[in-house]
Amino acid sequence: MTARGSLLALATMLLLVGDPRLAAAPYPLFDAHIHYSRPDWDAYPPERALALLARAGVRRAIVSSTPDDGTLKLYERAPTVVVPFLRPYRTREDMAGWHADAGVAAYVEERLRRGVYRGIGEFHLGAAGVDAPVVRRIAELAAERDLFLHAHVDADTIEKLLARYPKVRFLWAHAGMSADAETVGRLLDRFARLWVELALRSDVAPGGRLDPAWRARFLRHADRFLVGTDTWVTSRWEAVEPSMRDVQQWLAELPAEVAERIAWKNGARLFPAP
Ligand SMILES: [Zn+2]
Repeated sequence: MTARGSLLALATMLLLVGDPRLAAAPYPLFDAHIHYSRPDWDAYPPERALALLARAGVRRAIVSSTPDDGTLKLYERAPTVVVPFLRPYRTREDMAGWHADAGVAAYVEERLRRGVYRGIGEFHLGAAGVDAPVVRRIAELAAERDLFLHAHVDADTIEKLLARYPKVRFLWAHAGMSADAETVGRLLDRFARLWVELALRSDVAPGGRLDPAWRARFLRHADRFLVGTDTWVTSRWEAVEPSMRDVQQWLAELPAEVAERIAWKNGARLFPAP
């Protein structure tokens, strides 16, 4: 760096340090887990929801919703911010039995004709559902159109899905919610088509300090992790900013080139703006 360059960098740093809001938020963020479902629409009209994301430092986000119209409401207003994923739930009641309902496959296929979606999910599934015809059809659609499947499933189920549908790229919601860092790392070693998002995983940085087991996996697989919030109930919209502040805190413990991939670059590379 030239003397002039380093002076500029120093001046920028002092400016950032001088502003307490910015000092805590050095990385732009890609949020891999946002929902904008029916109960949210009145409480947080689209402009307000988008403003909450922006205030949290989120530049782009994967959004899926029950029903899917919520995602389209946000996408229409902010197509460079919202990465639309098609949720296979027409109503909340679909959550438990969607994989056994042929109507869901038809619904997904019909809806995909819009051509705006970059993935299908987030969906919930148990290991017994991996071979269900509806799941097989959705995996086919994903492979044909190069769409991600965003799966909220346990470690056994993601392993089965990855083995059964090797052409599909999977985004593993919540890193399986309870899978430990070692299990996640083993699956990442074995499956090149697996990416992992960390929404609601407070064990990544208990008490605000990055856990050493997770740190080791982030360093080894810096290209395969994303952060996320999960606005699964309306009240979670108020949690986007504080939860992303917590994320920034543990990101700051990582080498900058690793932190910026997990914060933003992985999502931006996988899901470029249209
Ligand atoms: Zn979710």
